[in-house]
Amino acid sequence: MIPDLKNAFRPFQRSGAHGALYCDGVSLETLGRKYETPLYVYSADQIVERLEMFQRAFKGRDHLVCYAVKANSSLAILKLLAERGAGFDIVSGGELERVIAAVPKAVGRVVFSGVGKTAAEIDRALEVGILEFNVESEAELALLGARAKKLKVRARFALRVNPDVFAETHPYISTGLREHKFGIDIRKAAELYRVAARNKWLELHGISVHIGSQIRSAEPFGAAMERVCKLTVQLKREGIVLKVVDAGGGLGIDYHSGGDAKAVTPAVKVEEYAAAIEKALAGFEGKLLIEPGRFIVAQAGALLTRVLNVKKNGKKTFVITDAAMNDLIRPALYQAYHEVVPVKPRAGRARSVDVVGPVCETGDFFARDRMLKPVEAGDLVALLDAGAYGMAQSSNYNSRFRPAEVLVEGKEHRLIRRREELKDLFATEVLS
Ligand code: PLP
Repeated sequence: MIPDLKNAFRPFQRSGAHGALYCDGVSLETLGRKYETPLYVYSADQIVERLEMFQRAFKGRDHLVCYAVKANSSLAILKLLAERGAGFDIVSGGELERVIAAVPKAVGRVVFSGVGKTAAEIDRALEVGILEFNVESEAELALLGARAKKLKVRARFALRVNPDVFAETHPYISTGLREHKFGIDIRKAAELYRVAARNKWLELHGISVHIGSQIRSAEPFGAAMERVCKLTVQLKREGIVLKVVDAGGGLGIDYHSGGDAKAVTPAVKVEEYAAAIEKALAGFEGKLLIEPGRFIVAQAGALLTRVLNVKKNGKKTFVITDAAMNDLIRPALYQAYHEVVPVKPRAGRARSVDVVGPVCETGDFFARDRMLKPVEAGDLVALLDAGAYGMAQSSNYNSRFRPAEVLVEGKEHRLIRRREELKDLFATEVLS
């Protein structure tokens, strides 16, 4: 069934009950014709609105929203967010360079997470003066101290602790249990802070957690923060005062919410999340950082694709699109659900189809046994809620060109990344 997108909390709406699909003020047909497909389309308004939801929800406390660059690292999106006061959570030297390229002066609002930082990455981050390193192990703390001493700059750091909190989400994106590779066992953190306090090149700045991604309820965030807050109080008694608590990212979205007017609105979701964190942090007076990624960009984006073919194999009908798993891997990787909607619906009854790409893998699918209104070769369809971990996880698998990206700003639209071409495909290769 075509979701009735009216009342959905999305920029992708129909121009009437059965009309064509728009992103804010721009028709997706226009975009498909002008920029071709596969094409990522993002609403600037929604991205800004989501950032502001977090900024409003935490306005009672000194805070910084550090957008998780990994969710969508397009320069234009980083710029859009930086200009509205966002900081950034990065996990690699490449992401740091993206922030610097987009808005150089935002570098002082960068936190550097990630379970394996190299000496070169640390050096660069020290030289440009990021806000904080989120240190994930004892060995990394020693390396950070050594690099800081070499460069004769103090390194501001937080320990990323593992609070041993279970967050119900896909196993691949759950990170807050002791058995996961992330962070430092919270029971060992106090000792590491004491060690660090004796190193003049290390500046004790904060404490951080990140318990996972696509977490739908506020409770696990509150539980993690309670444990963190307890530790800050214990440390304070010893004279170790942490100025910053970083609650990480992970607030999930509703990938099934199209048309459900009764669904909890994103603003309410953010308020519940903020309330859980604030309640747990009642005894902490310092600054709060948060690192949302998905919640800010996921529902602002769609992957626009054209139907190449509709094919029947036995009882099954396959809708073969020009987008594939290399463009959007989430269904193959996490069995993730994305709504598939025809851009210009045809008359006729919905029927069960598999929506698949042309890549040579059975796992190359976007939807299985999905009820879809009739589509024909040449029709445009949109995969909704694809703004996070879509383009960012794209690849050249099957030697396919990665898609273009367009940013819609009200009634305007502009290319923010051109489609790859043959010259890009071979650019780094050496033949002899
Ligand atoms: N912070 C860290 C350290 C992460 O690893 C991630 C993603 O896994 C995020 C923030 C962003 O998570 P999300 O996009 O779910 O908000």
